[in-house]
Amino acid sequence: MANSENFVTHLECSLTGKKYEKNKIHGLSEEGKPLLVRYDLETMKKVISRDDVANSNEPGFWRYSFMLPVEKKEDRVSLGEVITPLIELDSSIKKFDVNASVMVKDEGLLPTSSFKARGLALAVSMAKQLKLKHLAIPTNGNAGAALAAYASRAGMKSTVFCPDDTPEINIREIERLGAETFMVNGLINECGKIVLEGKEKVGWFDVSTLKEPYRIEGKKTMGLELAEQLNWRLPDVIFYPTGGGTGLIGMWKAFSELLELGWIENKMPRMVAVQAEGCAPIYKAWNEGKEFAPLWNNAKTIASGIRVPIAVGDFLIIRAVNESNGFSITVSDDEIVKARDEISISEGALLCPEGAATFAAYKKSLSSNLVSKDESAVLFNCATGLKYQLPEVTNFINKNDPINYSRF
Ligand SMILES: *Cc1c(COP(=O)(O)O)cnc(C)c1O
Repeated sequence: MANSENFVTHLECSLTGKKYEKNKIHGLSEEGKPLLVRYDLETMKKVISRDDVANSNEPGFWRYSFMLPVEKKEDRVSLGEVITPLIELDSSIKKFDVNASVMVKDEGLLPTSSFKARGLALAVSMAKQLKLKHLAIPTNGNAGAALAAYASRAGMKSTVFCPDDTPEINIREIERLGAETFMVNGLINECGKIVLEGKEKVGWFDVSTLKEPYRIEGKKTMGLELAEQLNWRLPDVIFYPTGGGTGLIGMWKAFSELLELGWIENKMPRMVAVQAEGCAPIYKAWNEGKEFAPLWNNAKTIASGIRVPIAVGDFLIIRAVNESNGFSITVSDDEIVKARDEISISEGALLCPEGAATFAAYKKSLSSNLVSKDESAVLFNCATGLKYQLPEVTNFINKNDPINYSRF
């Protein structure tokens, strides 16, 4: 297998199927819908095997570069992406008599400590291939940090807009990583409007979720990685904290491509779109049997990564959920905090609120029989828990006073 081998045939409108040429700068399709990258899977099947992948010595997800759009190795923009670990849950699920494995895929170990690194590594690499110079993004924090990091790495300019109540640490991180950073008194969709309008006026390239074709290809690597880690046997259910939905759509695309390659040993997993009660446009549309999800008013949740009131890929999320025989479910902020504390104290893993939402959703699904105790599950923890506000610690010892050792 030649590592530089590239199998991209064209891009395709996700709604109409209309074809678009590769090697051109693309945003959304003429219909205003996401474009998907298509590959010559027939040829790929003949020339690449699972053994080739197993024997690859490419770092991190670049081992799947034959299923990615970056043509030349020198256009890859990399910051040391790693294969993220699967952590088997133990004491936190014992009490539910679960007979199958429940694992957390911990994405907090990627560069900039979130899985946004996957998408932005690909988007910035493709921007380099296409000779773009200035990238702009609306963000709830993590996407902005990943863009800033990869753009700086590639020597490109980046401009980032985030809601002014984005966690402080994210905003500071974004600016330190070299992006021109602006806080906006609005939500992510309102930041997105500024990026959209600036396309004409400033000339920057819009790397908003699903408004360019390559972040999804980066997020696809979560599915490829998971499949290889589990010996090409996918879990029964995948719980994904859904904002813009890139990861859920990307994984579903990965599994479909792997199925076509004949690499998957068992059946496809059920995809579960987890949302917060305070911002649940996808859940609401799915629950009402609709494919498109209108704007959710007064979006509010501590899980900032899934505070996305409107998603351009709404119908793709809902289709993946329905095609996979999955479902959507919501959890409250209280349930999220409780789930985070349960996992950190009993398992030693500090989840981000979005990741904790998947554990809360898993428990809820178990108790309402949406999943059974015999189904294996993978929960996505999308970022390090350290980027978020943690409860204050108040225990204090004055070294000059006698210490009451009986209290320990
Ligand atoms: C972006 C983000 C999400 C949502 O991911 P999508 O693929 O856009 O739905 C969830 N959690 C965290 C921590 C994020 O940064």
